[in-house]
Amino acid sequence: MKPRDRLRIAMQKSGRLTEPALELLKRCGLTFRQSRDKLFCFGEGEPVDLLLVRDDDIPGLIAQGVCELGIVGRNVLNEFSLTAGPESEPLAELRPLGFGRCRLSIAVPQEFDYREPAQLAGRRIATSYPGLLGAWLRERGVDAGVVTLAGSVEIAPKLGTADAICDLVQSGGTLVANQLREADVLLESEAVLAGPRNLPADERGDLIELLLKRLDGVIQVRESRLLLLQTPRHALDAVTRLLPGGPQPTLLPVAGQPDQLMLQALCAGEVSWRQLEEIKKAGAREMFVLPVEKMLA
Ligand code: ATP
Ligand code: ZN
Repeated sequence: MKPRDRLRIAMQKSGRLTEPALELLKRCGLTFRQSRDKLFCFGEGEPVDLLLVRDDDIPGLIAQGVCELGIVGRNVLNEFSLTAGPESEPLAELRPLGFGRCRLSIAVPQEFDYREPAQLAGRRIATSYPGLLGAWLRERGVDAGVVTLAGSVEIAPKLGTADAICDLVQSGGTLVANQLREADVLLESEAVLAGPRNLPADERGDLIELLLKRLDGVIQVRESRLLLLQTPRHALDAVTRLLPGGPQPTLLPVAGQPDQLMLQALCAGEVSWRQLEEIKKAGAREMFVLPVEKMLA
C-alpha cells in the first residue's frame, strides 16, 4: 500500500464527544470541509482529514491502519486493548483531553448492602464492557458471571437477568431512575487521543508530533490565567507567596513610581475572588485576571 502523506483522525460522528472534539481540533488550527456523506471530512489548513464514525469503531480503525489517530473515551480504548487479541496492533493513550468525563462503575440494587468486591462472587453482572469488568474481577479474585449486553444495561436487574451492572456513570441520574446505586469504580474515564503505540516513521509521524505540541498548548491554555497586578516593593514577598501555582512571576518597573512594581504571573488554574482578596490584603493593587488565548513554549 502506498504510504499516505495526509493524516487521518477518527472521531465520533454524533454523540457526546462530537462537539468538544471538533472544538478542540479547531483550537489546534484544524478546520475541515464538510463532505456530503459526512463520513470523510477533508482538512483545509493542514494535511489532516477526519473520519466520522461510531465511537466503538475508532480503536479498530487505528489498529487496522485506516487512520493514525482517534478521539475516543478511555473506556472504549481500554476495552478494545483488553479484548482485541494478541495479533492486533497495540494502541496507546497519547493524551487525556479533559472532556467526556465519566466513571465505569459497578451499580447494585438499592437493597444490596455492598461493601467489597467479594460480595459479587456467584452473582451475574450485566455490562457492555466484558473486558474491563473481567480484568477487574480477576485482579480481585472474584468469580462472578459476566452478562454482556450491547445496551440498556441498567434495566437488567429489574428484568431479573442480572444481580448488578457495570456501566458508565456521570451524574448518577440514570441509576437512581432504575433504583440502582453506584457501589464501586473500575475506571475514571475521559476522552483521550489514541494512536498506535509505534508512531509511523514517515511524515505522518512528524505531523503527529506537531499536533501533540499544539494540543499540549491548547490544553495548558485552557486551564491558564494571566494575573497582572501592582505591588509596593516591600510587599513583594508576601504577595508572591500567595500567588496560585505556576512559574516564577515577571517583574516590571512602574514609570515614575520607583517603590512600585508591576507583576505578571501565569497561573495554572482558576484564580478565585478569595485568592484575589488575600493578595490584595498583602498589599497588591490594580489586579487583573486574563484568559490566555494561545501559548507556545
Ligand atoms: P455511538 O453511536 O458513537 O456508538 P454511543 O451511544 O456509544 O455512540 P455516547 O453516549 O455519545 O456514545 O458516549 C460516548 C462516550 O462519552 C462514552 O464512551 C464515554 O466515554 C463518554 N461519556 C461521558 N459521560 C457519559 C455517560 N453519562 N454515559 C455514557 N457515556 C458517557
Ligand atoms: Zn458507542
